[in-house]
Amino acid sequence: MTEDKSDQTETPYNYSFEYIQKKLEGKKDSLGMLLKEIVRTGICTECGTCAAVCPVLEWDDLTGQPKLIGKCTGCGICYNQCPRTITDPYQLMGEFKSGYVANTNIPEVIGGQDGGTVTSLICYLFDEHLVDAAVVTMKDPNNPWHPVAQIITSKDDAIKASGSIYSHSQTVEALMDAVRQDFRSIAFIGTPCNIDAVSKMFDSPTGMLKYFMRCHVLKIGLFCMDSFAPDAIYPFFEREGIDLSKVQKMDINKGKFHLYYSGSSEPVKSYTIKQLDKFKSSSCNFCTDLTAENADISVGSVGSGANKNTVFARTGIGAEIMEDAAQKGYLKIEPFNAINLNAVLFLAKLKKVSQYTVRKRKVFIVRDVAEKEEVRIETKPEVESPEVTPSLGARKFMSVSKNVNEEDKILNISLTNTIGYVLEDMKIRIVAVDEVFEKSPWITTVRELFPFETIEIGYPLDIPDGEAIKANVLVEASTEAFGKIFSRTLKITPKE
Ligand SMILES: Cc1cc2nc3c(=O)[nH]c(=O)nc-3n(C[C@H](O)[C@H](O)[C@H](O)COP(=O)(O)OP(=O)(O)OC[C@H]3O[C@@H](n4cnc5c(N)ncnc54)[C@H](O)[C@@H]3O)c2cc1C
Ligand code: SF4
Ligand code: SF4
Ligand code: SF4
Repeated sequence: MTEDKSDQTETPYNYSFEYIQKKLEGKKDSLGMLLKEIVRTGICTECGTCAAVCPVLEWDDLTGQPKLIGKCTGCGICYNQCPRTITDPYQLMGEFKSGYVANTNIPEVIGGQDGGTVTSLICYLFDEHLVDAAVVTMKDPNNPWHPVAQIITSKDDAIKASGSIYSHSQTVEALMDAVRQDFRSIAFIGTPCNIDAVSKMFDSPTGMLKYFMRCHVLKIGLFCMDSFAPDAIYPFFEREGIDLSKVQKMDINKGKFHLYYSGSSEPVKSYTIKQLDKFKSSSCNFCTDLTAENADISVGSVGSGANKNTVFARTGIGAEIMEDAAQKGYLKIEPFNAINLNAVLFLAKLKKVSQYTVRKRKVFIVRDVAEKEEVRIETKPEVESPEVTPSLGARKFMSVSKNVNEEDKILNISLTNTIGYVLEDMKIRIVAVDEVFEKSPWITTVRELFPFETIEIGYPLDIPDGEAIKANVLVEASTEAFGKIFSRTLKITPKE
């Protein structure tokens, strides 16, 4: 179905502004979001704008953050006015001329990654002689699920290349080969980082511009939240008993990574993205572009439901190609709607702000063997003992989070410096408290912990006498300057 373009150019931003009003400006927990995303992550500039614009917020000099002194109406102004929040749809997902929900109308393409829109566009471009070649990414036939960028010139190869491989592909190398081989009009398919590389080549006043005098490149960008390092994630899958040569499809959907064997619509295994976080390519931690903002046409799945794509045509040529491909029967399209937009904006925002919480420095702890501590007998502590609040002010020195790993063997403790300045020579003491006995004390000294840095500690729950710790674990921190700054008892509930 085709649309009257004059209407469509107005539609996206009507949705956007409604969205902003409803979802971003006026949430009941706007202040909570401001504190969580901006203040507690350490990116607040202490400009005081939030307090200045609200009658029930005041600036608290003691804690260096806004403080509620009356009833919050949830108007959202504090969140929206903060210079560190990102609330504008243009900033979140770039500019576009028209947005669609699309899927293939070619029977051979059904079975593409989502709606098969990218493959259908390549087929249309070849049939219409609009491109001589396309740069795509295929699976390496000799190395299961490793990506290989390829120049293709036929619809059959476009269909063979359909599907997503969730790792970096050297697409630009193939593009340069295509330019050198004198292809004059090339469709280039890539992740947002690939698209940025090509855009930079086109815009660069030095170096590559003259190459592109010879050809036109149509940039088809894929939405991308993250990719994974094949050398780390595939051995992990194999250790999990997955035969990669049998895997026909990998897919990320609603925060889960699914693997499918050939001929099965049920995943053979699924993982939460959090479980796979350690295998993520490090570059993706520094990436803020979800929707390939510099492409001519951007295609993803988020927001559009099963077997469909969310598409943004960003340039004039991009919009014309989408409309014509639909008119000539390659694609089914309909205008996108508020549901698509909400989902894309939500994910785009997650990606834009994720950089705020990237840990720039890792803290490694080497246990100080010189500092031995005897096992002590103490009175039983309160299960949830209140945090020690130093006289310095109400701002918390540290926050703690815990999780017990799957085998119940290790208690993972994260301690974050939330005070806003460096904590020096901090002694950390972790001890199991079973009835009235203290067992397995573990102490260490951290010379410097920078603001909002986190230390991660794995405390073994199997103690040397063979018993497992079933009670509580006390975590304490102290510095010479402030004395005891933190004390919390963590309850351990082993799995039955
Ligand atoms: C690393 C990665 C992460 C992604 N993350 C998201 C996400 O978080 N949210 C979301 O909505 N969509 C994401 N996508 C996009 C999504 O997986 C689909 O590619 C997109 O929806 C297009 O679907 P389709 O059915 O039109 O694709 P198809 O018609 O099957 O065509 C897919 C095209 O992608 C190309 N391709 C495959 N792997 C790569 C690669 N590694 N690098 C460059 N090109 C490749 C192929 O050449 C093929 O032409 C991601 C894609 C990749 C590659
Ligand atoms: S009333 Fe004040 S604190 Fe509450 S959302 Fe509005 S600006 Fe923020
Ligand atoms: S407006 Fe934002 S940056 Fe400024 S003080 Fe408030 S939270 Fe901090
Ligand atoms: S998250 Fe960014 S850097 Fe990583 S593959 Fe996607 S676009 Fe590239």
